[in-house]
Formats: sequence, structure tokens, C-alpha cells
Amino acid sequence: MINVEHRSILDRYKNMVPVPVGKLAQELGIQVNLALLSPNISGLIEPNSETPSGFHIRVNRYEIPERQRFTIAHEIAHFLLHRDYIKNGIVDNVMYRSGLSSKRETEANRLAAEIVMPRAALDEALENLGGKKDDASAMQLAKIFRVSLPAMKVRLGIA
Ligand SMILES: [Zn+2]
Repeated sequence: MINVEHRSILDRYKNMVPVPVGKLAQELGIQVNLALLSPNISGLIEPNSETPSGFHIRVNRYEIPERQRFTIAHEIAHFLLHRDYIKNGIVDNVMYRSGLSSKRETEANRLAAEIVMPRAALDEALENLGGKKDDASAMQLAKIFRVSLPAMKVRLGIA
């Protein structure tokens, strides 16, 4: 469960498009760095006693910014939902699989999608484009929300 304080921070970011995920992380007290990670790793969250939250996120610097944004949101989701399971760190490969159960990874992906593609803002943007869920609008929406096309298609239910 997401605590009240974190929920109110999340709510304030729901109408900012594209959602500034770096700022969101910062407001949650999490430091984010682009890092030299192995090519099969998208990102990780680890304890760090020098940050306000006690955690930092590292994102693979060689992935495209749209992927990095989703990865940051995914690691934020682990912080919000799975803090007690982070222990020495959660390392997510390019499929967003880690040492956690696939149930928890699915939870993190769902929340990450809601963070970078907030439902109400997405519905409104889709409506402005004519309301049709197809490849053309997915492409435009992916640009507007600064996410990858596959991520947007999954969110629209047309993947
Ligand atoms: Zn994960």
C-alpha cells in the first residue's frame, strides 16, 4: 500500500505531461543517476544512507530517454510498494525481471504505467486526437507522454 504522504505527492504529478519523473523521484527523496550498467540491465534501486529516502536509483545510460523514464517510474514503484523487499537492492533486467516475484514485477509495471501515463491525462489527450485507439494515435501519444511506442500500446490495450 502507498502511504498517504507518497500518495499526495503522486497525485500532484498526475496532470503534468510529460510527467517529470526525475523531479518526482527527487521529491520522494530518491536520488537518480544515469549509470554504466550491463547492457541487459535497465535499472536498479539500492539503499543509500545519504539520500532523504534512504534509496537511490540507477538507470542504464545507454537506453533511450523514453525507456529511462519508464525505468525510473518502475524503480519508484518498487520504492512505493516494495520498500521492505529492497534489502541490498533490486536489479531489473531489460524485461523488468529481478529477484522479486513476477507478481511484484507486474505490480511495479502497472504503477509505473500509471505514473508516466496517468489515466485521466491520457484519456483527455486521446480525446483531443479524436478518441480512436489505433497505431496513429498511439504514436502521437507516445510523443506527448515521452514514452516508448510499445509502452503506450500496452497502456491503450492495443499491443
Ligand atoms: Zn522491477
